[in-house]
Amino acid sequence: MSERLKTKKLDKKNWLLKDKKPFIIAGPCSAETKDQVIETSVRLKALGRVHLLRAGIWKPRTRPDSFEGVGAKGLPWLQEAKELTGLRTTVEVAKTKHVESCLDFDVDMLWIGARTTVNPFAVQEIADSLRGVDIPVFVKNPINADLALWLGGIERLERAGIKNIGSIHRGFSNVGEKYYRNRPQWQIALAFKNERPDIPLICDPSHICGRRDILQDVSQKAIDLNYDGLMIESHITPDEAWSDAKQQITPEVLGALLENLIIREGKEDDLPTQTQLDYLRQEINHIDDEILNLLSNRMKVAKEIGEYKKQNNITILQQKRWKEIISKGKSYAVKHGLSEEFMLKYLQSIHDESINQQEKVMKNLNQT
Ligand code: PEP
Ligand code: MN
Repeated sequence: MSERLKTKKLDKKNWLLKDKKPFIIAGPCSAETKDQVIETSVRLKALGRVHLLRAGIWKPRTRPDSFEGVGAKGLPWLQEAKELTGLRTTVEVAKTKHVESCLDFDVDMLWIGARTTVNPFAVQEIADSLRGVDIPVFVKNPINADLALWLGGIERLERAGIKNIGSIHRGFSNVGEKYYRNRPQWQIALAFKNERPDIPLICDPSHICGRRDILQDVSQKAIDLNYDGLMIESHITPDEAWSDAKQQITPEVLGALLENLIIREGKEDDLPTQTQLDYLRQEINHIDDEILNLLSNRMKVAKEIGEYKKQNNITILQQKRWKEIISKGKSYAVKHGLSEEFMLKYLQSIHDESINQQEKVMKNLNQT
């Protein structure tokens, strides 16, 4: 490791400004142009609620032909935005070269993205390049719902001597998911908090939702669960963003979202002091939400089946298929200690709703 890295000094005792909870991290998914970064930072600063300016410089994209970030040339733009607004900055790093460039350009905090947290080699490389450097680092949850991997990433940084570490819940990838982009598995984040109450927990509603219309709800939920802060993507012209256009909001819309949040006072220590009953009730609420989301996904698939049946002239109700579902349900009930009666009622009611939905699809198709 170079001397230049060792000499990086940051004095950040109260690095997460706990007294200013919720800690708000905002900024574009990606830095695109100098003007965009500067204008975003000025408009975010004007809200008076943002503590840290984010921008992706190197973007881990699923397909190689997507925009992969402007690279190190965007770092001076962030530096200038900081000088102009006083907002501290944070950038995603995935390898030593990124870490070195960020430190060269005075980035204040780093974050490790979900696609990097899944890879212990990559996290270890980042941790090794940070040995002897005093800079806060956030670790996003890995894309798969693996609590140990998330904790492991944090432990690797701790062993490299990083003192100020935060975690970010950005949801988990889930095949077939239609409501969220990355499903928030609140119970995993709460288990994280139980395991590491000393590590601040931030929620990233942008990557959880993947769309604007449910950002407010997810942000409120995080606040109700006593998260320490939020990371929300903000762009001056969201529809034209070079990455994650669907989920970004203007600084002013972000301002309204923050204004609308109901922040309950005096709940600082809620989670640790909660009664067991409260905790269990909260868990039930989250499970109910998950069940409803799954049911709504199921109905969407049922509608697709309805369209297929219509186009191929197949009747809606197919006895053989229905019998198959019942028999599978009964053996599931026996195996998991549920009564057969309950299972039949449950399946019948879901099935009725599916048929209704399919009939609606048929009617609509007939009208068009
Ligand atoms: C991001 O914050 O822009 C990002 C790439 O997030 P994640 O690692 O959560 O996908
Ligand atoms: Mn993004």
